[in-house]
Amino acid sequence: MTAIDDLLQRHIDGPDHGAPEVPTPVPGLHLAIVTCMDARIKVFDVFGLRHGEAHIMRNAGGIVTDDVVRSLSISQRKLQTREVIVMQHTSCGLSTFTDDEFREELEADTGLRPTWAVEAFREVKDSVRQSVERVRRSPFIPHTGKVRGFVYDVRTAALTEVL
Ligand SMILES: [Zn+2]
Repeated sequence: MTAIDDLLQRHIDGPDHGAPEVPTPVPGLHLAIVTCMDARIKVFDVFGLRHGEAHIMRNAGGIVTDDVVRSLSISQRKLQTREVIVMQHTSCGLSTFTDDEFREELEADTGLRPTWAVEAFREVKDSVRQSVERVRRSPFIPHTGKVRGFVYDVRTAALTEVL
């Protein structure tokens, strides 16, 4: 029994009935949230989000990478979102190693260096500021007047805005 098998059974037994009450892909709050893949972050609970209200983009760190810019471009230009939250968090896995260490590990194991940036960080606030700046400066993202960055404390649930 794998974790996936377990989840397939949970799906059969579970409460998900799709989204018949949300007939459009346009998020109700016209909002996109970029955050980390960390399993401790319950994005819907953090913001009291309801079904159908926001686009949620997650990756390692909650970093605004080229692929997140791609998603935000589509989110704003084709699906009418206008505001962006970038939320990173305390005790992130990406602050436990450096870009160089990880690149060297990959090269030692595979003989290849990645074409993408690792984007590890020491100071989470600096990383949030950098990601917010990438949204604001992207020529592909038209609505950049309401972009805000936050650090979420995974122990206390405190949410601190990074200015
Ligand atoms: Zn993280």
